[in-house]
Amino acid sequence: MMPLSLHLKGVSKAYPGGVQALQDINLQIGRGMFGLLGPNGAGKSTLMRTIATLQQPDTGSITFDDIDVLRDQTALRRVLGYLPQEFGAYPRTSALTMLKHLAALKGIHGPQQQTVVESLLHKTNLWEARHKSIDKFSGGMKQRYGIAQALLGNPSLLIVDEPTAGLDPAERRRFQNILAEVGEETVVILSTHIVDDVKELCSQVGIMGRGRILKVGEPRLLMEELRGKLWTVLVERSEVAALRASHIVLSTRLKAGATEIRVLSETQPGGMQPASPELEDVYFSTLIANDLRDNLE
Ligand code: ADP
Ligand code: MG
Repeated sequence: MMPLSLHLKGVSKAYPGGVQALQDINLQIGRGMFGLLGPNGAGKSTLMRTIATLQQPDTGSITFDDIDVLRDQTALRRVLGYLPQEFGAYPRTSALTMLKHLAALKGIHGPQQQTVVESLLHKTNLWEARHKSIDKFSGGMKQRYGIAQALLGNPSLLIVDEPTAGLDPAERRRFQNILAEVGEETVVILSTHIVDDVKELCSQVGIMGRGRILKVGEPRLLMEELRGKLWTVLVERSEVAALRASHIVLSTRLKAGATEIRVLSETQPGGMQPASPELEDVYFSTLIANDLRDNLE
């Protein structure tokens, strides 16, 4: 297998009006699934559009193997599959017809076209629905169609921007599985504000907030960093405010009438039990450490 590597150096972008959407982004992303996790407004879509050559940064460089992404947009687009956050209108055409049409535009014809399109319909679980009009698809089917379309031409770089927003848990799981399969051969970048999307699937996660990459690493290792610093206790709802004032409360969860709170602390707070770190704890503690607590509520 060819090594694949996407490399961003010092990428910054300010929008007219002064929003610093990207601030000195430095990232190296290899084969596998990379989860870009961050709250709304963090800059995820800006970063994805920039890598997909749909907009230019103010400064910095991006390479994908030997392609200079910002200079040679055509070369990048040849190996890119991109599913934007806003897909726009869905055609009143069947998935089969539409994929054949798009394949033809990519120069895939004849028996090869049939093979490619049929295998994509199977891969995305849309084979049974292939004659149905895309605008009549459910949300999950539309997203799976979007992935089928993004996979035409066998991209080595696949970018999917918040693909699971609005999907029910079963559809989300199905979508995650399709991505995991693709991720074994290519570079997949998945942006999301849902921790569950990256928990099991992504070999690497990057946590983004206010235009910066705040943390990067293997989910398992990032979770290990919190071992021994995480505590939990069940309290009455009325006690939560006082605990927030005296402790670093990462999250609160309703559990059978009581509230379970998770606290970050170097030493064991009185009355609290040790807790096993979860990726959600990594996410929340990273945002809090960077003064982005507001983004949690
Ligand atoms: P995310 O995808 O993580 O929600 P975005 O990249 O969409 O973040 O937005 C990052 C910041 O840039 C936000 O503050 C957003 O309001 C701002 N922004 C995004 N697009 C534009 C634009 N075209 N013009 C001006 N500001 C923008
Ligand atoms: Mg976005």
